[in-house]
Amino acid sequence: MNIAILKETEKNECRVSVIPDHVSKMTQLGVSVYAESGLGSGVDISDKQYEEAGAKIVSDRVSLLKEADMVIGINKPVIDDIKSLKKGCIYISYLDPYNEKSLIEACAKQGVRALSVEMVPRSTRAQKMDVLSSQASLAGYVMVIIAANKLKKIYPMMVTPSGTISPARVFIIGAGVAGLQAIATAKRLGARVDAFDTRAVVEEEVKSLGGKFLKIDIGETGQTKDGYAKALTPEQLEKQRAGLAKVCANSDIVITTAQIPGKKAPRIITKEMLANMQPGSVVVDMAVASGGNVEGSEVDKEVDIDGVCVIGVGNLPSRVAVHASQMYSANMYNFFSEFWDKEKKELVLDQEDEIVAGCLITDNGAISNDTIKTHYSGKGE
Ligand code: NAD
Repeated sequence: MNIAILKETEKNECRVSVIPDHVSKMTQLGVSVYAESGLGSGVDISDKQYEEAGAKIVSDRVSLLKEADMVIGINKPVIDDIKSLKKGCIYISYLDPYNEKSLIEACAKQGVRALSVEMVPRSTRAQKMDVLSSQASLAGYVMVIIAANKLKKIYPMMVTPSGTISPARVFIIGAGVAGLQAIATAKRLGARVDAFDTRAVVEEEVKSLGGKFLKIDIGETGQTKDGYAKALTPEQLEKQRAGLAKVCANSDIVITTAQIPGKKAPRIITKEMLANMQPGSVVVDMAVASGGNVEGSEVDKEVDIDGVCVIGVGNLPSRVAVHASQMYSANMYNFFSEFWDKEKKELVLDQEDEIVAGCLITDNGAISNDTIKTHYSGKGE
């Protein structure tokens, strides 16, 4: 089996999908690994290090794709790359299948078996392959550091002969994987942390990290069977904004992480709420690339709105690309080794397996994933 590891081509992407440690482990399983020349430049890993781990370096991307039985990447591919793949080739990366219908159709047409890392189920067994968690956790950390760099104050309380400084107030909206890591990071730096999430079940986790959980009565919210938030109604969102406004106004930093899988991110902070914040406050919008939680936030820009600095970073994990690559690569290797059949020397992707059923999007020349088929038919939630 030939595995191709691609160099990422997206702007501002420094990560690599497989690091040399995992190349070496894959070759020990009996596969041949081909790596695109220069793939590790963003994390200071040379082609020579990949060669030493057992990979063969290929400069021509098209021939790398043509020969591959499996391709591993991070960002969703361009359709031209898909057209170079042979029938039956397995392609694993982010695919954004809810929004990328033409890409998914191109995979099906080409006979590619496309695996979407976003669709790996959030189960105990799949935890070690869960890219959403590994990358979100790092993103949570990065947001707090970015905000600290911008804020003209310090995070911790200081009692000195020159006076007492109160701790910075940090408000985290959305306490999923990224939000919880942001709470932990801000607490470690000495900030006073408030947090809110529509899923009331996270209250205990927020408290255990030393954060204060804000309660707002917005009626029935709940979560899906996979533990994701359900989209709020416009009336609920309005109630939520009213409940959040006061805490935002009293915060030095607001970090928003609210997402609904497959849907545009909810608009949580309005320009009116920003206008009520103290000048010099900092807002970081993690959802900027999927619609934005904050009115006026822009991808990869810092925008001044009524004296408040609103920061949108499209690719947060890439800011800590070494550790992000290490974790992503471990997720990829864990996926591979889970489904690698040592006797047959092939990757067995059986639709009866709940992880495969969750993340295999196209198979046998068609869209095979039930959730995505339902979504494209317009009958999804
Ligand atoms: P996510 O990125 O989809 O959303 C981030 C957070 O935003 C979530 O906590 C969500 O409840 C919240 N949110 C959505 N709309 C909101 C709104 N209007 N206002 C405030 N908050 C809002 O979530 P995620 O971080 O990927 O985590 C989703 C779930 O998956 C969580 O329950 C998490 O514990 C669970 N999970 C399970 C496993 C596992 O069992 N292996 C692994 C990782 C995550």
